[in-house]
Amino acid sequence: MSEIIDKLRSLYKKDLSQLLAGRTVTLVGAGGVGSPALITLAALGFPRVRVIDFDRVELSNIPRQVLYSQNDVGRFKTDALESNLRSTLPGLDGRTEVETVRDRLTEENADELLRGSSLVIEGSDDHAAKFTINDYALRSMTPAIICGVVQREGIVFPVQRGLTACYSCLFEDVSADDSPTCAQQGVLGALAGFVGAFAAELAVYQLIFGSVFDRGKYYRVDLTGRLPLREIGVKMRSDCPACAGVSGPYV
Ligand SMILES: [Zn+2]
Repeated sequence: MSEIIDKLRSLYKKDLSQLLAGRTVTLVGAGGVGSPALITLAALGFPRVRVIDFDRVELSNIPRQVLYSQNDVGRFKTDALESNLRSTLPGLDGRTEVETVRDRLTEENADELLRGSSLVIEGSDDHAAKFTINDYALRSMTPAIICGVVQREGIVFPVQRGLTACYSCLFEDVSADDSPTCAQQGVLGALAGFVGAFAAELAVYQLIFGSVFDRGKYYRVDLTGRLPLREIGVKMRSDCPACAGVSGPYV
């Protein structure tokens, strides 16, 4: 972890727009995790970000979805976010190109909506989307960072085919009806903010240094614990329904 922090600090002194030229990060979900992720990517000078979201801003979203204000209630997030991002970071000067896609990501449209992504950050409140992106990452060899937040706990889970365990190695694909979401259970705004910003920094780190995804770790955030951020080892499961028997790009 300290190695990641030291290397990230070294990046803050550089012009990342040159190091990341031609790269696109796709954010799935522009809410509690997606908002701080987008702000962080833009602040770091990421050249191109695609944002996929189908939802409208609700009043109850605003405490944790920091890109929106009461003036945006009822608007589609994809309509509000770019001008709000420019207001939040007035010095951007067009450094970060933001492409918005108003659609719900599904297994059927994943290939089309995610095509051309250098890396995908999943930050939606949709269990099915996490498994859809896990499958897409395995099938396309695109690295992905899958995020989840509920109440005071969150995860940041890097996936790359053949190099890491996948999301299905650790979590069961339960239906949305059976599993709690942050919209149902609530989530601390500070937690969503941390998870989104951390995922964005890991994405930048991965695309420059390329070594987040061979550490065999994922990250658990627990605001109630003595160690609020922990790296946890996770191994590929030989009977994983998604990745068992799938070889990676370097093997
Ligand atoms: Zn797996």
